[in-house]
Amino acid sequence: MNYKRDTICVQGGYRPKSGESRIPPIVQSTTFFYESTQGMADLFDLKADGYFYTRLANPTVAAFEGKVAELEGGVAALGCASGMSAILLLAMTVCEEGDTIVSSSAIYGGSFNLFSVTLPKFGIKTRFFDPDASSEDIEKLIDDKTKMIFTETVANPSIKIIDFERIAAIAKKYGILFVDDNTLATPILCRPFEWGANVVVHSSSKYLDGHAAALGGVIVDGGNFNFKGNKRYPSFNTPDESYHGLVYADLPSAQFATKCRAQMMRDTGAIMSPQNAFLSWLGCDTLALRMERHSYNAAKAAAYLEKHPKIDWVLHASLPNNKYHALAKKYMPQGTGGMLSFGIKGDVKDAAKFMESLQLITQETHVADVRSCILHPASTTHRQLSKEELVAAGVPENLIRLSVGIENPDDILADIEQALAKI
Ligand SMILES: *Cc1c(COP(=O)(O)O)cnc(C)c1O
Repeated sequence: MNYKRDTICVQGGYRPKSGESRIPPIVQSTTFFYESTQGMADLFDLKADGYFYTRLANPTVAAFEGKVAELEGGVAALGCASGMSAILLLAMTVCEEGDTIVSSSAIYGGSFNLFSVTLPKFGIKTRFFDPDASSEDIEKLIDDKTKMIFTETVANPSIKIIDFERIAAIAKKYGILFVDDNTLATPILCRPFEWGANVVVHSSSKYLDGHAAALGGVIVDGGNFNFKGNKRYPSFNTPDESYHGLVYADLPSAQFATKCRAQMMRDTGAIMSPQNAFLSWLGCDTLALRMERHSYNAAKAAAYLEKHPKIDWVLHASLPNNKYHALAKKYMPQGTGGMLSFGIKGDVKDAAKFMESLQLITQETHVADVRSCILHPASTTHRQLSKEELVAAGVPENLIRLSVGIENPDDILADIEQALAKI
């Protein structure tokens, strides 16, 4: 059935049979019982669906995976221990030593670090592009070893919005997998598969959980990339000896997700815990309502800040003069989410004084949950970046990142007002 997204939020991922619990039980078990040897053997050979060990799959995790896959309109999903483990796993699924990734530079600090520092130690290099760069300049970064193009729908924390159709055209031209991190938009505000992305990744620690309760990540396979015969991906087109010669490109569907689970979940153990899957599943119940309120509150705060004499600049795609306003209207017509950033007039000391004067809005590394919080990235999440890298990532030194929660907007604005009055 083709339900709308707000319906999927509350009904997706889990349908109980008669007499079963209405919401998914937390299946807190490492292992599963089988009567016959053959039953177990078929699971190991990927001939049958089922559970045998929670490092590979678990029913509670599957309920969460199902809900997110339905919300995104994908064919399969994998619940991971964190957003970072999800991004690592997806890179490992397509890349080997000597391969390259072409990535937007406007991405989360942790992803930037993984691509620029850690993966090169394993012989995987990333070339970065500014999302505003011309298509020709982006194409120049591609070589025959390029295994994925990576972007963020709404970049954390620069709030740049990706032009999906342009990136998808490049990926298609070269037969490269297009992967998008949809964490800050969520499938409520944007569905990247509808715009040509092939794999979507989330830090579910943010809006999907929504309550700052459970760390997690999720990879969604759009099922719209055929690896069969694509010379760029020999690892999908040659037999996997660790799975009795299975050729992933021969699978009718979920080629990416199957390889990711069979090889990378098995070898890394970076699966989401059943407890966190339960909390994340539950969080998604209210996702549609929350994203509407986050977007409304943030647009209101952005409009207020923009008029304030002590504020230098404000970035939120809801503002008509924002560089990404037109892209936001096209890709996120229902709202642009709760994240905004702004610069205070004055120096770093004024910024600190402002932040410390806030009473309702708290200083946190976290973003994108129900409570409003604020952060100075240059001194925290992005402190490992050089001055040049900060500029490339769209994070000037005076940038303050505000994650607008779902409190009453009047209380949020009053808190900002009284803190600005102190500087
Ligand atoms: C937080 C975040 C991540 C990393 O996720 P964790 O769950 O913290 O590991 C990745 N991408 C984006 C856009 C994020 O905001």
